[in-house]
Amino acid sequence: MSFKTSEHSGSGAGWRWDHSYKQLPALYFSHALPQPVRQPSVVIFNEPLAVSLGLDKELLEAGIFTGNIIPPGADPIAQAYAGHQFGHFTGLGDGRAILLGAHFATDGGLYDIQLKGAGRTPYSRGGDGRAALGPMLREYIISEAMHALGIPTTRSLAVAKTGENVERAEILEGAVLTRVAASHIRVGTFQWVAAHEDKPALEALSDYTRERHFPEIPAGEMRHFDFFEAVMERQAALIARWLHVGFIHGVMNTDNMALCGETIDYGPCAFMDEYDPKTVFSSIDRAGRYAYEKQAAIARWNLARLAEAMLPVLHDDQKTAVDMANEALGKFDGRFQFHWLAGMRAKLGLFTKEEDDASLIQDLLNAMQAHRMDFTNTFRTLSDESAMTTCPFEQTDLTEWHRRWIERLKRQPQNQAEASQRMRDQNPAVIPRNHLVEQALTAASEGNLEVMNRLLAVLARPYESGHLTEYTSPAPAGSPAYQTFCGT
Ligand code: AMP
Ligand code: MG
Repeated sequence: MSFKTSEHSGSGAGWRWDHSYKQLPALYFSHALPQPVRQPSVVIFNEPLAVSLGLDKELLEAGIFTGNIIPPGADPIAQAYAGHQFGHFTGLGDGRAILLGAHFATDGGLYDIQLKGAGRTPYSRGGDGRAALGPMLREYIISEAMHALGIPTTRSLAVAKTGENVERAEILEGAVLTRVAASHIRVGTFQWVAAHEDKPALEALSDYTRERHFPEIPAGEMRHFDFFEAVMERQAALIARWLHVGFIHGVMNTDNMALCGETIDYGPCAFMDEYDPKTVFSSIDRAGRYAYEKQAAIARWNLARLAEAMLPVLHDDQKTAVDMANEALGKFDGRFQFHWLAGMRAKLGLFTKEEDDASLIQDLLNAMQAHRMDFTNTFRTLSDESAMTTCPFEQTDLTEWHRRWIERLKRQPQNQAEASQRMRDQNPAVIPRNHLVEQALTAASEGNLEVMNRLLAVLARPYESGHLTEYTSPAPAGSPAYQTFCGT
């Protein structure tokens, strides 16, 4: 099956819609309109993103960002999917998100435009279809920070208030986030069709996703298998990138893993300060299922669920299909390790490869954990050219480690300045630290957007030097342990 994209020109704002997703069988979506809200008002708008999408800010009314105004050419739907949530299988779907369609950006890329918090859909179950201002601003801040860090992610175009309240543990201001994504096709989308045992529909989804995200894969008999391996490769690379910056997604359910390889669904996620591989922030993740150090293993588990769902199209013979899936999955750990090691070498200024690099890296991480050192600042401190001569740390195990590292740097042809530059390009000086994000959100909930705007400006330049220490310092000593929440 081959899918055609077509362009439906919208208003003068620059919309150029594509609805090729709707060529898939009807089981993948339902028509659903956003429910208009009382009083749309834009809280934050991402001008650089709008420009790169080819949209004209002057012609984008506030009502577009709450669903009160449907842009001409848009054709709103809610997407169906299933998912394993903390290991348990459930039928889900967009319970509070409406997809307006996909938009052709000026750069030729095709991006889903989705309103998160736009009202009830056929998949809302008991939920109200709405979202609160704080969590939507939090997604905006963290997704844009991830983008600036160079990590594949969905983006945030705007957050608009609804002028209505939402009821959670307390009464909160309602808001809608406009999310921009390469697509919203998830592992859970494949699980949804697998649960319907509809092989033609499964084949159509696999072909559609491959054509949209992996057009380089030839359309031969092995195309579903090649597609699976390509998805796996992007996940291995993505999780490695998360680990390189200390990011913990927090809710890596199969419905929150996008096949395009972007980070998606910023719920209980957070960045760690002190290095501890067991770090968990989510209040409901008591077993540490989605802890920092578990993320690669969980990605592999999720990919195994994708492989299971895809078995009927991998091969007509069930046993052969299972063998093919197992063979592919068996490569995941190696691919993840490859990406992790490549990134860690870069974080330490290494251009060449030596057998002992993995243990050099692990010994540093062990010392960081033992001394409860800040993950981001340790690497950034080592990135300073002065660290190439003088050890910036006092502890004996670290001075010993530092001596080994300097010896190692001397065994490569690149000089100190080059190594140091490579490190500053890889080790961010700023990340969205939990206490700073909370300060920004608290101020925003009181109507003061300055704190957030200043933070966003800093987070947009994470690898530059010279940021104010208030943005580079960890949470003040004695701060309570940070907790994040689902059900926002
Ligand atoms: P999440 O934890 O955000 O990935 O959401 C898991 C599922 O619950 C998805 O199917 C969401 O669409 C749905 N959901 C979350 N919050 C709401 C809500 N307030 N109303 C309806 N559905 C929701
Ligand atoms: Mg989700």
